[in-house]
Parts: sequence; structure tokens; C-alpha cells
Amino acid sequence: MENCGKTEIVVQGIAASRGIAYGQVFVYLQSELEIPRYTVEPAKRLGEIARFEQALVATRQQIAKIQQQVKANLSEEEALIFDAHQMVLEDQALIGETIRDFESTGNNIEYCFNAVAQRYIAAFAEIDDEYLRERAADIKDVTHRVLHVLLGQTALNLGELIEKRVIVARDISPSDTAGINRSAALGLVTDNGSRTSHAVIVARSMKIPAVVGVRDLTSRVQDGDWLMVDGYEGAVIINPSQATLFRYGRIQQEKKTFESRLLSAIDQPAETLDGVRVTLRANIEKPEEVAAVKQYRGEGVGLYRTEFLFLHSATLPTEEQQYAAYRSIVEGLAPATVTIRTLDIGGDKPLPGHPQLIGPEANPFLGFRAIRVCLEHPELFKTQLRAILRASAHGKVDLMYPMISGAEEIDRANALLAEAKAELTARGLPFDSALRTGTMIEIPSAALTADVLAEKCDFFSIGTNDLIQYLLAIDRGNNRIAHLYDPTHPAVLRVLRQVVLAAQARRVKVSVCGEMAGDPVYAPLLLGLGVDELSMTPALLPAVKYLVRNTKFSDARKLAEAALAETDPRKTYALVEAFYRERVQEE
Ligand code: PEP
Ligand code: MG
Repeated sequence: MENCGKTEIVVQGIAASRGIAYGQVFVYLQSELEIPRYTVEPAKRLGEIARFEQALVATRQQIAKIQQQVKANLSEEEALIFDAHQMVLEDQALIGETIRDFESTGNNIEYCFNAVAQRYIAAFAEIDDEYLRERAADIKDVTHRVLHVLLGQTALNLGELIEKRVIVARDISPSDTAGINRSAALGLVTDNGSRTSHAVIVARSMKIPAVVGVRDLTSRVQDGDWLMVDGYEGAVIINPSQATLFRYGRIQQEKKTFESRLLSAIDQPAETLDGVRVTLRANIEKPEEVAAVKQYRGEGVGLYRTEFLFLHSATLPTEEQQYAAYRSIVEGLAPATVTIRTLDIGGDKPLPGHPQLIGPEANPFLGFRAIRVCLEHPELFKTQLRAILRASAHGKVDLMYPMISGAEEIDRANALLAEAKAELTARGLPFDSALRTGTMIEIPSAALTADVLAEKCDFFSIGTNDLIQYLLAIDRGNNRIAHLYDPTHPAVLRVLRQVVLAAQARRVKVSVCGEMAGDPVYAPLLLGLGVDELSMTPALLPAVKYLVRNTKFSDARKLAEAALAETDPRKTYALVEAFYRERVQEE
């Protein structure tokens, strides 16, 4: 496994998910399909139809294989979506029309199939019926697969990656990451992206070492090159030398020792040296993460990003499917609280299979996103609310609204919640009538009216990922400006303090669930600012707990006061980092 005399090249990106990975590269590039058009000679026309039929059979086998994998890796429900895909392959109208088109024009079969499929997709997408509209997404997906087979190209799917590889991609979507085969993905490196892009958040929860924002790495490496990924410092080393391999071997050993030191306090309470109890909860994206929450002793879930149930599904999950997913989490963690956030799609979490919900937008982060989508699609929203309410009958659930920009949205969401409750009562289904509702504070207008919003909810959860993005006008997914994304900017600290004061005056608890909460360097600052609870990726819980247990709350307050008095973000960061280093010697 040496670099065979090739020159070692070190490139710097942004450290996005802790850990070190070493292995051969798999370059993941999704390209647009180009469909050729040519005339098939009359003598070869029967053969062309046979080629089409074989492609349909091969696609059917492909889908069955993926369905098996999804069943094994995710769940039975998620595998069900592929039944709809199989039905498309059996659709006599679609197939018959393709053959008729071929017989009348003599154009090659992929050209005819694509033309007919596109007509179907467009027609279904127009229909004013949610179920039928969703069929457009199924046809699109299946068409893509059949065309790949006909053109002799392999459709890329990270779930099918079997050999252990370091994935290198230009960009990666949250649904790409969610579909990754964990046992094969050694590490992840992307040209674009930043620490708080959702795909990276998923990589972190899957404990895949990752570096993002490496600019042009995809054009500098090819399949089979050897790569070292340093998810602690953000370095990526192409064809590492023996000396580098040795150095990283040692670093990995040291990190292991350090992590086992962190784990040694895992069963102790999250309490500061002067006896202040802090609540540490977990952020999850999937029901399967319940095990990690338990493993790292999360006191329940502070943020369940329900949109991941929708992201890689060709059909919108039904009330029953959602109820089953939510219930399994709630029961799995009972009696601890599970904070279920309603659908936060849009921004960097588009729903590619459902263009009827969110179409292309010039500014997705300032566009049709989260609660805005839900309030305009009350049936979609109420389906989710009913599923959450039903899950609340099985344990302790808190409900949380994302991307609230003002009080009126809370009123409208609560009115729909009241309707969802009435509908369940009419159906005779139980739910927790004392269910608490919370608001995410992640838009500056919400932060600045926190006193008003606090009158309308039971708790706040500050989403620093978006809050910082909107306060500083820094796209959280753009690596070119990632260095400007600064949690220690005085504007951020002042706003955080203001939200906490507004909440405390009304006895509303404040949690932070953005990535800042899971960074042990920032945790004492947040506590010093008066935050009651921190919620993070499960694997980060031990490091934050260790820090809480080695910090005096009175010192954290002084740190926050000093940070608030400082106006140079670099000096604030130096203060916060020195505080961290004094308490944690990472040998
Ligand atoms: C946030 O914005 O900080 C947050 C927790 O929500 P998300 O990252 O899902 O947008
Ligand atoms: Mg957010």
C-alpha cells in the first residue's frame, strides 16, 4: 500500500467530520445522460425491440437488488418505494407507446423510450392529485435506469459501493449521503460544501471521516489513487509517502487513547465542577440512530430531522409510515424526550422526486423552505402532525417548528396542530394532550422578536447553522466564503445572549441544536451565555460531556462576559480556544 514512487500532494480543505481515513479513491460523478438519435435499419428492428425487452428485465433485476439492500440497511418501509418502480416497468401504456413510436419512426429505442417517458412525466407532473403527481418521480427514476442500461452505462448509486473506498465527489446531496453503504465508505471528500451543509451533517452522524471544500480534487485524482483523509485538520493527502503513513498511524493511536479517555466519563452526569446540571441531547436523522443515542448516553433527542424520511423516497411517506418511524424512536428512547422537528425541506434539502412541492428557485435558502412549505400544503403538514401526535402516545415527545420568522407562523402552525388533534380525536386515536411545542430560532427576525415568540411556545431551540448563515449573509454550503462563517462574530454572540435573556424572562428553556453545540470548543461559551441544553450528533456527546465536567459554570460565565465585551472575532476565538485547551489536553 505504498505510493509506488508517486509524488505526495497535500491539499487543504475544511475538516468536516472527525476521524482519519486511508484508502483507494472512488470518484463519484453524476453526469447528465446524452441520448443519441439514429435510424435503425428495417432488418434490425426486431433485434432493437429485443434489446429494449432485455433492458427492462435487467432494470427489474437491478431494482430488486437495491430493494434487498435497502431492506437490509434501512427498513422494510423504505424498501417499499421500489415496488412503485417495478410497477413502472410493467406499465403497458408506457412500453406499448414506446414500441409504437419506434415502429412508426424507426428511431433508436432509447430515443423513443425517452421521448415517451418525458411526455408521461410532464403529464403526471401537471395533474392536480398528489398520488398521481408522485408517479412522475417514479417514472423519472426508472427511465433513468432503463436508459443507463440501454446505453451500457452504470448508473451510480453510493448504496451499491461494496469495496472499501474513499468517496471523492464534486458535490454530494443529503440523499446521496443517506444512501451511502456505511461499511464501504472509508471517508468522504468533496470539492464543494462546508461544515454545516446537510450532507456533511449526515456524514458526521454516520461517523464517516470527511473533508469538504477541497476545490478541484475530483480533477486531480482518479479511481484507484490512494488518499489519506484527515477529518481533524482538514488535510487531504494524495499518494501519501511512508513517512506520512507512519505519522498518521501515530496520530490515529493518540486520538484513540484520547477518545477512550472521553468515553471513561460517559456514565457520569453532565454536571459542571460547581454543580450545574446541563442537558445533553442528540441530533438524529433516522430511526436507526437510536442505538447511537443510547451508546453515547444522550438524554433523549434534541433534534430529529424528519425530512430525511422524505428525502430519498420516491413517494411521500404516509401517516402510517411516519407514525411507525416516529413511534420506533419514541419507544426506543422512552422515557427520555424526543424532540421531533416538522419537515424542513428546501434550502440544501430539495426533494428531487417532488418538483411539484418546491420547484427550481434562484435563492433556495431564502425561498420556499420548511414551515413555509408546510403552511402552504396543510394536508402534507397535518399528515405529519397527526403521525407525531400519535407517536406521542408511546413516550415523551416535544414538537418543534423550523424556520419560524415571526409570531403569525406559530399561530398558523398551532391552528393546524389543533385541527390535527381534533381529527385524531374523531378517529378515536390517542395522543399526549399536553404535548409541548417549541420554536427554532434560526432566522434573525425570530431572534430579535424572541420576547414575542416566547409567549407562544414552551421552548426554544437555536439553530446556529442557519442563524449564523442569515446573520452574516454567508451561504452555509459555499466553501469559497466558509472562512467568513464565524460563530464568534460579535453579532452572533449578542443575538444569542438576547435570545437567552428574552427566554429566561418568560421561563422558556433554551437549547442549541446547530453544529456549534457539538463543538467542545464552543460548548462552555454557550453555557456561559445561559443556554440550558446542547444537542449534537451522538458521537460528539462524550467530548462535550467531558468538557462540561471539567468546567466551572462560574468560569464559563466569565468567559461569556469576556467574549461579549470583545469586538474582534479572532480575539474572541483565541479566548474560547484557550479556555478549551486549559481543560482538555489532547495529547
Ligand atoms: C440549524 O439551522 O442550526 C439546524 C439545527 O437546522 P438544520 O441544520 O437542519 O438546518
Ligand atoms: Mg436550520
